[in-house]
Amino acid sequence: MDEIRSVSTAKLPEIPDNLSIPQFQLDVADLTRPPRHANIPCLIDDATGKQVYFEELRSRTQGFANALSTLYSIGEEDVVLLFSRNHIDYPVAIWAVHRLGGIISPANPDFSRQELEFQLRATKATLLIIYPDALDVSTAAAKAVGLPLDRVLVFDVPNTSAGNLVTVDNLVQRGLRVKAFSERRLRPGEGKTKLAFLSFSSGTTGTPKDVAIPHIAVIANVLQLAAHSKLNEDYAEWKDRRYRPGDVAIGVLPLYHIYGLVVNLHFLLYCAMTVVVVPKFNFEGMLKSIVRHKITHLMLVPPQAVLLCKHPAVKKYDISGIRYIMVGAAPLSDEVNQKLFALFPDAHIGQGYGMTETCTVTSIWAIEHKRGISGSAGQLIPGVIARVVKTDGTLGGYNEIGELVVKAPSNALGYYSNAQATKDTFVDGYVRTGDEVRIAPDGELYIIDRIKEIMKVRGFQVAPAELEGTLLDHNDVSDCCVVGVPDDYSGEVPMAFVVLTVDAANRVKGKPEGLEGIRTSILKHVAGHKIGYKHLAGGVEFVESIPKTPSGKLLRRVLRERAKELKKAP
Ligand code: AMP
Repeated sequence: MDEIRSVSTAKLPEIPDNLSIPQFQLDVADLTRPPRHANIPCLIDDATGKQVYFEELRSRTQGFANALSTLYSIGEEDVVLLFSRNHIDYPVAIWAVHRLGGIISPANPDFSRQELEFQLRATKATLLIIYPDALDVSTAAAKAVGLPLDRVLVFDVPNTSAGNLVTVDNLVQRGLRVKAFSERRLRPGEGKTKLAFLSFSSGTTGTPKDVAIPHIAVIANVLQLAAHSKLNEDYAEWKDRRYRPGDVAIGVLPLYHIYGLVVNLHFLLYCAMTVVVVPKFNFEGMLKSIVRHKITHLMLVPPQAVLLCKHPAVKKYDISGIRYIMVGAAPLSDEVNQKLFALFPDAHIGQGYGMTETCTVTSIWAIEHKRGISGSAGQLIPGVIARVVKTDGTLGGYNEIGELVVKAPSNALGYYSNAQATKDTFVDGYVRTGDEVRIAPDGELYIIDRIKEIMKVRGFQVAPAELEGTLLDHNDVSDCCVVGVPDDYSGEVPMAFVVLTVDAANRVKGKPEGLEGIRTSILKHVAGHKIGYKHLAGGVEFVESIPKTPSGKLLRRVLRERAKELKKAP
C-alpha cells in the first residue's frame, strides 16, 4: 500500500482557487454555508463585552484597507508583522492587508526584542502592528532594524496608553470616510501561489523558518473541516450538531499560531459561531468567561486541558454549558483524556492534529464518534492523502509504524526564501511531518513519537538549534545540546547539556560554587534573550563532551535518553 486516504464518507467541495481569504470569509454569498443571523455576533471582546457583528467586521476591514493603502502605501507583497495578543481588530488587520495583496506575518507578543528583530529581518516587514503592552520591545526592535516608528501601529485597548503611536481604530475611522483602495483580485488558480501568511515553524530540523502559506491553504482547511463535520449534511439531530450557528467559543488560543488562526477564528466564523476574544490566557479568567459569555466550545492545548481536570477553582463555576472540547497542538495523555470524558459526560470531546506546514488540521476525531478514541489523534480529514514511511524508506500500510508524510490542499508552499529547507521537508507535493505514527485499519491515527528535533512546550514549538545558538553566545560555553524532558504540565521543557570552555573549566576546578555560578549565569543568559517558554526549565547539565556521529552530527537521541534518566534519579 502506498497511500492512505481519509475514511470519511464526507464529500469535499471544490476549493475556490481565485478567492483571497477575506473574499471567501466576508464577500462570497455561498448558500451552502451555515446562515449567520443578524443578531449573532462574530466576535465578543472578553474584557469589555463589546460585540462585533458581521457587517461591522466587514466595514472595519474596508476602512483599515483604505487607510493602509492611502497612508502607508501597503500593497502587493508587502509584509505586515502582527506582534499582538488576540484583539477584536486582529482579523480586521489580517483581512485588510490581504485585500491589498499584502502578506501577514504573525508573531508571539511576548517575544524578546531579539526574537522580534529576527522575525522583522527574516520577513522584511514594512509595517508593524502591536498590542500596547509591547511598546518598549517593539520600538527597540523597530529601531534596530531601521523600521521608522511612524510605521508601528497599535491596537486600541481601553485605559492603556498607545504612546505616540497611531492606533488602528483611528485609522479605521479615517479610512471609513474615503473609498480608496482597489481590491486585489486573484486570477483563476492564483490562490494556490498567492501568499497570505508567513508563519514561523522550525519544521523537522534547525531554527525557526517562515512557512509560506497561500490563500487557498486556509480556505481549503476551513472547507475540509466543514466537510469532515458534515456541516451542510443532515447527518444528525440539528440540536446536537458539533458546530451550530450561535454556539459560542472561547478564543484563548493565540491567533499568531496556526491552530488559533485557522480553527478558532476562520473555521468557527465560517460555522456562523461567535468567538470570545481573550488577549491573554489565565485559567480562572477563562472559567469566569465561560460563565459570563455562556461558552459552549473550548479549543485548547493539553496543559489547559490538564488545568480543567485538576484545578480546584473549576468547582466554583458552573461550566455545564460546555458541549465541545477540542485538544490539539501537542500530545494529550490518556489520563487527562479520560478525566475530560468523566467531567463532561455529554460533550463532544476529542483531539485534532496538524502543523503549521499543513496549514493546520490533518486529522480530527470522527464526526460519527461524539467522543474521540482515547490516545488517537482522530481520522484524516477529507482531502488528506497520507504515507507512512518506515525507517527503511519503504511505505507502510495500516498498523505499520513510520513517519507520517501528507499531501493536502491546505499544504504550505515551502519555507520562504529557503530552498534547501523546502527541499528537505516538502517532497513531491507531500509534507514530511517529522512525527512517527500508526494508522489503524479503522482510520484512527496514533502519534507514537516525534522524530523531529522540536519540542512542544505548552503547545509552543521550541527549536533546540535556536537555543543552542543562544547558549554558544555565552562566554563559558564551548559546545552544547538542548533536548526536551517530560513535564507534567508543559508536556516537556528544554534542558541543556553544556561543555565548558577550557578557561571556564579551569576557573571552577574543585570549586562547586563556581560551577553553580556559571549554571546560574547560563540560565539568566537564556532568560534574558528568549521568551518564557524557551527558558531552560529542565536545567543545565555539565558534560565533558557532546556525543556526535563521525560526521559531527549531534546524537540528540542519546542525550534525550540521558536527560530522562537524570530526571528519574532522586
Ligand atoms: P505546530 O507547527 O506548532 O502546530 O507544531 C506541529 C507539531 O505539533 C506536530 O508535527 C506534532 O509534533 C505536534 N502535534 C500537533 N498536534 C498534536 C497531537 N494531537 N498529538 C501529538 N502531537 C501533536
